[in-house]
Amino acid sequence: MTIELTQRQFCTTISLDQVNQTVTLAGWIDTIRDHGQLLFMHLRDRSGVIQIVFNPEENKPLHEQAEKLRSEYCVGLTGVVIERADDAKNPHLPTGMLEIHVTSLDLFNKAQTPPFLISEKSLVDDETQEFHVDEDLRLTYRYLDLRRLSMQKNIVIRHKIMSTIRNYLDDKGFVDVETPMLTKSTPEGARDYLVPSRHHDNCFYALPQSPQMFKQLLMVSGLDKYYQIVKCFRDEDLRPNRQPEFTQLDLEASFIDETYIYSLLEPLVERVFATVGKKIQGPFPHITYEDAMNRYGNDHPDLRFDMTMVDVTQTLKNCNYKIFNSIANNNGSIKGIKVVNKASEMSKNMLQEELAKKVVPKFGGKGMTWMKVIDGKLESNIVQFFSEQEQADLITALDAHDNDVLLFVADTNKDLVNDVLGRLRLYVGKKWGFIDPKAIAPCWVTDFPMFELKDNRLNSMHHPFTQPDDSFMTAKTTDDFLAVKSRAYDLVINGEEIGGGSIRIHDSQMQAKIFETLGLTETDIKQKFGFFVNALTYGTPPHGGLALGMDRLVSMVLDTESIREVIAFPKNRVAYCPLTQAPSHVDNQQLDELKLACVIEEATS
Ligand code: ASP
Repeated sequence: MTIELTQRQFCTTISLDQVNQTVTLAGWIDTIRDHGQLLFMHLRDRSGVIQIVFNPEENKPLHEQAEKLRSEYCVGLTGVVIERADDAKNPHLPTGMLEIHVTSLDLFNKAQTPPFLISEKSLVDDETQEFHVDEDLRLTYRYLDLRRLSMQKNIVIRHKIMSTIRNYLDDKGFVDVETPMLTKSTPEGARDYLVPSRHHDNCFYALPQSPQMFKQLLMVSGLDKYYQIVKCFRDEDLRPNRQPEFTQLDLEASFIDETYIYSLLEPLVERVFATVGKKIQGPFPHITYEDAMNRYGNDHPDLRFDMTMVDVTQTLKNCNYKIFNSIANNNGSIKGIKVVNKASEMSKNMLQEELAKKVVPKFGGKGMTWMKVIDGKLESNIVQFFSEQEQADLITALDAHDNDVLLFVADTNKDLVNDVLGRLRLYVGKKWGFIDPKAIAPCWVTDFPMFELKDNRLNSMHHPFTQPDDSFMTAKTTDDFLAVKSRAYDLVINGEEIGGGSIRIHDSQMQAKIFETLGLTETDIKQKFGFFVNALTYGTPPHGGLALGMDRLVSMVLDTESIREVIAFPKNRVAYCPLTQAPSHVDNQQLDELKLACVIEEATS
């Protein structure tokens, strides 16, 4: 018997309205329960599962055929929709009121026993069940891993987010333009992936770190508004939530300023979260880079909770506590955070032995000082070194109240204080429940420095195409350059940088001067960016844009543990693909054609 598949429906589209009707379904056997006479199974397709029943009394040969079915066999069937008896209804399942009494069955394909359980029946019944399978095993059999309903949901929602974005930008007049993958290096601060050219000896293409120069060239061309959902490639050091290739929403527009970007992106981000029913409401708050560093310790502040850092260096500059006194008088800083109403829960032992001796050193700090507010006064192991007035001033500076705990970090290196206390803030915020897991707190970080020092050389903080403020044209010394601000902005959500961009330089001379400031010689500039600087001389409009990291954004929308959960075929933690086993060695013949040789011989065991 061959099933006529043109009438096929998805499992979860079957409803009570169809009771007694014959329907056609196709998919995989999810679970099997043999109740002696009756055989119950779950049939799974992309939409979910539905119970199917084989009754030998209704059709013996069919029941015998069904007895041979195993999990993950691929089948098609027709059957009659039946409402389940009340005591057999399953409220956890969208189709839990129904079952299909099968009338004909086609086995399309058998399946080997899969290396891990694909059925998520337990997930359907109990949301708290977790799936613990080694990730490399999942990635080796990704096609089976993607058969799991929770992964299908991730992939389908990712698709919905992408199409929401496309529709929104299409409505706003943006044109989707593809840019090359085999191209020249784009300076985004990472290493390039290189592709050797067979036709041009000793020459390499670089895979794009971003389409930055192309999108700006499209503005020179008068395209006016460009976007692309595009793969970018950055050969960065391995970090948990990074992928060598990742997807960006990249966009650029002409004759615009920062406010245009903010008002374009905020509704877009709102729509993205709304795909799963999450609400955020613009306008998003703005915070300057300097404020973010001072109050949160980093340039991607988590605004889901308060606990901001307060500078008390001046308050304590004459105190008798030697370490603080010396730090305050040696251009260092002392900063504190207030942990509201936790004095009774945070024991002295925990503060001293865990936070001060273990956690803070792990963050790179030398130590941490704590004080509890009890009956309007401070209590701690060092409080005797502070005068009544200093204690009162500390309480005022941190706006502290009874049962609050104050945590201080001090060092002669101000950046270190920001960094360590910023990490401690996040640690305490998470561990002591100050972060509402449902909260979504976006913000724009603005007024970034144009340059930073890296290995003692000036480096672009965003990238060299970002427009500096006017002070750039008169800057002379390194300190002058480090004080120049740029017109860059980052979109940060829940403490994660989701995207960033800038208003660009549209003047070729200023662009050349930026390259010079970055230490590029005239030959370098010509070789690497000559075409681009030249393009700017042909009537370039003022323009700006931004890129959003889509893997991170989708992962945040779906609350997944890692971005790999929202990428169909990701690399593992060490940038390797266990499925295809890439990267891999290639034949000598292929190397010869490319005129390449491997310097390191493969070890022979
Ligand atoms: N090209 C930048 C990036 O990939 C974004 C931008 O400036 O538009 O981070």
